[in-house]
Amino acid sequence: MSLKKLNFKHITMIMLVSIIISVMWHYFDGSLCDVFDEKKLNLDSDVSVHYIDVGQGDCELILDHGMSILIDSGEVEKGNSVVKYLKSCGIKKIDLFIGTHPHTDHIGGFLTVVKNFDIDRIIIPELPKNIIPTTSTYTNFLKLIDEKKIPVDKPQIGKSYKIGEGRLDILGPVGQNYNEINNWSICARYVYKNTSFLFGGDMEKEAEKDLLNTGQMIESDVFKLNHHGSKTSNTKKFLSAIKAKIYVIEVGKNNTYQHPSVEVMKRIDGAKVYRTDLNGSVVISTDGSRLDVRPEKGEG
Ligand SMILES: [Zn+2]
Repeated sequence: MSLKKLNFKHITMIMLVSIIISVMWHYFDGSLCDVFDEKKLNLDSDVSVHYIDVGQGDCELILDHGMSILIDSGEVEKGNSVVKYLKSCGIKKIDLFIGTHPHTDHIGGFLTVVKNFDIDRIIIPELPKNIIPTTSTYTNFLKLIDEKKIPVDKPQIGKSYKIGEGRLDILGPVGQNYNEINNWSICARYVYKNTSFLFGGDMEKEAEKDLLNTGQMIESDVFKLNHHGSKTSNTKKFLSAIKAKIYVIEVGKNNTYQHPSVEVMKRIDGAKVYRTDLNGSVVISTDGSRLDVRPEKGEG
């Protein structure tokens, strides 16, 4: 086509196509997680909570209007896949990282994550000296935080962190005399408009009971079962106080712990349950009232 023939109609067409391309580019940048091989996940919502499949371990991501909270990061060897997931979501930096407790299936992947992203702030529990783990993973974890000079907060009950247009309330750990590291897990509740999501790491029934006794608001739409669905956690009392509509279990296929326990599965029988060993990563997006569940595998 010669330049002379480029009439008004052509120019309009070219302009229209470039506008569409630029709008699509903007729309997908940061909102498209292409970790799901078969079907690409188009997050058409500004707020989404991701239960990332890291096998036997925990890793949750909250995205709220361009800001991010990462709760746990799976085992050391899952670090690269967590980084890949975060990058595919368009994440440039992590606003808040919570290491619920120092077990490797929760903080291992951080060793890789911290080398790939700037992290604004970290919250980790302050354990009594006699139970602080001496594993190389935890020692390296603390060393990297120190090297990168990342500000560290202790979990302060009642404190809220504003992220995007939502907030994360710190609810626990409540007790001060736990001998079991799991009970020191940070418990936090993310709230966006009328929706809420509860996270409690591997807290056991003692910590659940103490939390209930504080009378804090724990009722939530979505609950990630404590300690990978173990029967030493997730008591009937605790579950009935949460009144969750949706349960997510972060658990590895054929794990040696036999998580989740048959007993706990009975306690939540009839409810909507998603498991990372069966469903892969599970993404719940929301407009503040509706919850749209998109598992990697299976029905939403
Ligand atoms: Zn665990």
